[in-house]
Amino acid sequence: MSSISVPPPKCLQKPLTVPYRHMFGPGPSNVPSRILEAGANPVIGHMHPEIFEIMNDIKSGIQYMFQTQNKMTLAVSGTGHSAMECAIFNAVEPGESVLVAVNGIWGERAAEMAERIGARVNTIVAPPGGCFTIEEMEKALSKHRPALLFVAHGESSTGVLHPLDGIGQLCHKYNCLFLVDSVASIGGAPVYMDQQEIDILYTGSQKVLNAPPGTAPISFSERACQKIFSRRTKPVSFYLDLSWLANYWGCDGKPSRVYHHTGPVTAFYSLRESLSVLVEEGLENSWERHLKVAEYFHAGLESMGLKLFVKEKRLRLPTVTTIVAPYGYDWKEITSYIMKTHNLEISGGLGPSVGLVGENDDRVPICIIQTHSFLPVCFTLDVFVVFQVLRVGLMGCNSSRENVDMVLAALKDALKHCHKSKV
Ligand code: PMP
Repeated sequence: MSSISVPPPKCLQKPLTVPYRHMFGPGPSNVPSRILEAGANPVIGHMHPEIFEIMNDIKSGIQYMFQTQNKMTLAVSGTGHSAMECAIFNAVEPGESVLVAVNGIWGERAAEMAERIGARVNTIVAPPGGCFTIEEMEKALSKHRPALLFVAHGESSTGVLHPLDGIGQLCHKYNCLFLVDSVASIGGAPVYMDQQEIDILYTGSQKVLNAPPGTAPISFSERACQKIFSRRTKPVSFYLDLSWLANYWGCDGKPSRVYHHTGPVTAFYSLRESLSVLVEEGLENSWERHLKVAEYFHAGLESMGLKLFVKEKRLRLPTVTTIVAPYGYDWKEITSYIMKTHNLEISGGLGPSVGLVGENDDRVPICIIQTHSFLPVCFTLDVFVVFQVLRVGLMGCNSSRENVDMVLAALKDALKHCHKSKV
């Protein structure tokens, strides 16, 4: 008689099957076989000298990708969210003031994370598809005197590329650290961490880098380190505590590394390979390719009569394009049709870009409820308001004219076949 009451599941007696898909949503993107194969190398110990060498290579790759000399450069074992929490949990102590520039879901989430650790959070909120001027930033900095300002460089929920020039210098005038989320933009649009005086910059592995999800490059300036290493209180998270991570990644100058957590070694192999691919192409070539392909894509969409959600060209994220879902169509029908018929993922809106549909002829103020504070923020927007969007991500190896043609053909087909419905 068996002593176990839960029998072996039948499903696990069948082989694993995973389909191939064109991953043209806002992430993850397709992983080229070269990067997948790197991850299939044998597992070695997370404290073996060979893995430390691989981690050192990753560190150099991140310094190149971020354009920084920061010694405190590493990859968090986790997705983009873990890097967000690593940045906020280490840089902010309970009771400190944090300012968040919210122009999409990533600002909302950063505000919520800072609130959870007892920070005093203030937000400035831009309408979806918009961004902030330097003057607006300065007004908010001088009013709230925050210890940290958060800005999403690539707001993947709305498709906005937020200009960064001048904000770092402004933050330092007000003795504030500048934190930038580049999960959806790094490698696909210019970022110069040192020149732009960014104090903390992070990204994820699964977008332009084309590595599997699960590692998150992050870097801290000298100024950020000074604040972090003179904290009065310990960061709430042991796992994300920068003093431990700094030691594991050999960034603290100590002669030996101490076990903190079991580094995901195979994910490190893939991340290293993805950084090699970027180094081989060259950062500037990669920026240029993403921009050219995005322009080609945007022209194709407009020639089909579709409208881009971000009106100002210079604010369009070259990696993730937001398209106004054509009036009368249900975006869910379009995305599922394209998945079923073309084996291709594109996605709908997220956060503030998910919901409202309707023309705004009467210029009625539109109110958005901020999820972290439940305070409504109201805007009156010009011509019409259609907040339902489709999001298409063409990142890293996926950013090519051939893929644009494939997406345009799929969209044309979907618009022909998805009935104009009751929305
Ligand atoms: N920030 C931005 C701008 C993102 O696009 C994403 C992922 N969509 C994240 C943060 C969070 O990353 P992850 O899903 O890897 O935790």
